[in-house]
Amino acid sequence: MKNIIQSTTELALHIARPYIREGKAVVDATCGNGHDTVALAKAVFPDYGDGAAASENNQECPTTPRLVAFDIQQRAVDATAGLLMEEGFGAQLDAGNIRLVRDSHENMGDYLEEACLIMFNLGYLPGGDKEITTCTETTMKAIQRAAGLLIKGGLLSVTMYSGHREGAKEKAELLAFAKGLDSKMYHVAYVNMLNQPNCPPELLLITRKR
Ligand code: SAH
Repeated sequence: MKNIIQSTTELALHIARPYIREGKAVVDATCGNGHDTVALAKAVFPDYGDGAAASENNQECPTTPRLVAFDIQQRAVDATAGLLMEEGFGAQLDAGNIRLVRDSHENMGDYLEEACLIMFNLGYLPGGDKEITTCTETTMKAIQRAAGLLIKGGLLSVTMYSGHREGAKEKAELLAFAKGLDSKMYHVAYVNMLNQPNCPPELLLITRKR
C-alpha cells in the first residue's frame, strides 16, 4: 500500500476520489503543472488515459464538462493540456469533457452550476514565477464561491502553504472561515503534518451536509 500520509497532495487525492459522483462536475481550481488534473482525469474517466481500454461510446459533446481546471497563467494551462494529452486524455479535451480555463478561480461559478469535488492547491507554480502566487483576497472569494457550488455530500479540499508570507495570511483566513461555517451545513477537518520541518503543506477539508 502507498503511504498516503507521506505527501499532503497524495493524501488530498486519496481522500477526494470517493467524492466523485457519476455525471457531476469535478474542479481543479489551480491546475499549475497539471499533476492533480491528470490524477483527477484518471479517476473521472477510468476508461480513458494510458493503460485503459478506450471505449467508443461517450464521445458526444456534453453540455457541461465533467472536469474543469482553472489557472490564471497561460503557461500553466498549456502545461496541463500537454500533460493530459501525454497521458491519453486528448479525446476528452477535444470532446469538451475536460475543460481548461484561463481565468481566476473566483469566477468558477460562471462556468459551472454545481460540483461534487473542488480541489485547490495554493501557492505558486512549481518551476514557475514565484511572484505569481494565489492571493488571500481572491482565494477567500473563490473558497466561498466553491462552498456554495458543492452538491450535498460534495468535498472542497484546499492544500495550503504557510511557508511564505502571503501563504501564512491565506491559511489564517481560510482556517477562520472554515471554523465559522455552520456545523449544520458543513463538516470541516484540518490536517497538519505535525513533525515535519519547514512549514509543510496543510490540508483543509470541507464537506457539505445538506
Ligand atoms: N496543482 C499544481 C500546483 C498548483 S500551483 C500541480 O500539481 O502542479 C498554484 C497555481 O495557482 C499556479 O499555477 C498559479 O498560477 C495558480 N493561481 C494563482 N492565482 C490563481 C487564481 N486566482 N485563479 C486560478 N489559479 C490561480
